[in-house]
Amino acid sequence: MTFLVNDPVDFPVELVDGFVKANSKYVTKVYGGVVRATKSKPGKVAIITGGGTGHYPGFMGWVGPGLVDGAVTGKVFASPSASQVRSVAKAADQGGGIILAFLNYAGDVLHFGMAAELLKSDGYDVRSSVVTDDVASAPADQISKRRGIAGGLAVLKVASAAAEAGLPIDEVLRILKKTNDRTRTFGVAFSGCTLPGSENPLFVVPKGKMAVGLGVHGEPGIFELDLGTADSVAKLLVDKLLEDVPSNPGKRAIVLLNGLGAAKYEELFVTFECVANRFKAAGIELVDGEVGEFVTSLDMGGLSLTVVWVDEDIEKYWFVPCDSPAFRKTKIVDEPLDSSVKFNTEPEPLKVNKKGSDSSRAAAAYIAKALDQIKDVIAENESMLGDLDAVAGDGDHGAGMTRGSKAAAEAAKWLVNEGAGAQTTLAGAGARWSEQAGGASGALWGAALIAAGNALGDDKNLDDKSFANAVSAFVKSIQNLGGANIGDKTMVDAQVPFADVFESSISQGSQFVDAWNRAAVAASSAAKATADLIPKMGRARVLGEKSVGFQDPGATSFSLIVSTISSMFK
Ligand code: ADP
Ligand code: MG
Repeated sequence: MTFLVNDPVDFPVELVDGFVKANSKYVTKVYGGVVRATKSKPGKVAIITGGGTGHYPGFMGWVGPGLVDGAVTGKVFASPSASQVRSVAKAADQGGGIILAFLNYAGDVLHFGMAAELLKSDGYDVRSSVVTDDVASAPADQISKRRGIAGGLAVLKVASAAAEAGLPIDEVLRILKKTNDRTRTFGVAFSGCTLPGSENPLFVVPKGKMAVGLGVHGEPGIFELDLGTADSVAKLLVDKLLEDVPSNPGKRAIVLLNGLGAAKYEELFVTFECVANRFKAAGIELVDGEVGEFVTSLDMGGLSLTVVWVDEDIEKYWFVPCDSPAFRKTKIVDEPLDSSVKFNTEPEPLKVNKKGSDSSRAAAAYIAKALDQIKDVIAENESMLGDLDAVAGDGDHGAGMTRGSKAAAEAAKWLVNEGAGAQTTLAGAGARWSEQAGGASGALWGAALIAAGNALGDDKNLDDKSFANAVSAFVKSIQNLGGANIGDKTMVDAQVPFADVFESSISQGSQFVDAWNRAAVAASSAAKATADLIPKMGRARVLGEKSVGFQDPGATSFSLIVSTISSMFK
């Protein structure tokens, strides 16, 4: 669905106008499309591409130094006319001849073909060449019938670098054709695309399915499969491309993972990890990878994978710097790091430097047991906590607390087995909690566990007073780090009453268990009372009023946790 449309009829024209305004350093408008706004070397071969609109960055996004000289922009999914192609080509001509390179769709073939005739009669040295990378569009023995899709970028990039280097037209054309012969693309669609101003998509992919081997004009795929994981889609694409190879492919390749319009970069990166691993497993070295949007199809969901089997020429010209509104290759100014430099890719391992005192180890064992129960209770209440957070926050409190408490419980268990005291155990648990939970509550819980551990120490003889100190250190660290006061509607609202009741009970001579139970009751009623408050801290502050009538998620999870420990005493 296209949301921002004026008159749909004007859409293809208005988008070119806006594009030119936004990229006036690179491009200038000419009847039929755009040409470079920069001076080119006289006598250079001009490469002109183009096609229907709706495929940005293809094609006008690639006009600039080291890339193409001009792009012809048609209507949405409809070829530009011969007179438009002729106009752009004449404007881009530098006297070295003109190559018209387009994606082998019927309309393009006719209009570009007619334009070539017109340009010839105008006296230009014109050549035409088509991109045919889409393996799904015709069998391998009919390659010339194949359509062009995202591989077009690679073909044009390599040929344009050859043109920029001053090669004569026959050589540039030879390199363009060779690159096309060695380029293959295969794609899948998850959802159809909708023409601007239109209510319904051009085609629909049934829910839970994917269309395999789609075209970029909303042509549905050649067959449908159940939608798989990112890994299974990557496998499908790579396997097909490893099967449909040119002669003498070699062992080195460039790959482009192309979003078709509504694929998220994040999804593409998840998929690329598997793509790269599968090529590696097949013994193919990826000399370069590009992940992004290269040839799209309006708002189509899906992606395509292109492989360019490089030889010396292709590799050389691929890496030559180029600059355009949508595609750049640069030489990085700084030297790469020395290969001897190694960084940790994992968090610091847990370790026990020195065994704890008997008393501290006993406390650590208890803490590990408590964390184990906490992680279960939090997991059971994950969706309730998420729902509370969704009222005015982002809904992730349950998920974050589940990840954090699980990681903390695992760390504590391991550390206790290694003989750690309470300080080391809580330090490890806190570190893992904050690493895994993320979010405000993850940072606060992590810091608080570490602070409580510091109060307990590894080699002290612990008594009830020490635990009261640890509880107060826990709460103080949250107040110091987060800056929240009572009444701000945060976890602090449940924690301060908890610590106050615990400490005063202990100092009045209560046993640990009694003091804890009384404190947990106080935390629970304080958490309930947060329902009446308006948040003044954290993410929920912005939509504060909405949360009146609902308990604060962080106060609620805290009260659940301390009540769980209470029930362990029974
Ligand atoms: P995020 O807000 O980053 O998504 P969570 O959803 O996991 O983190 O946690 C939200 C909870 O964190 C809130 O309900 C509140 O109790 C607590 N919180 C947020 N900011 C603060 C703060 N500055 N001090 C104390 N607690 C806070
Ligand atoms: Mg949240």
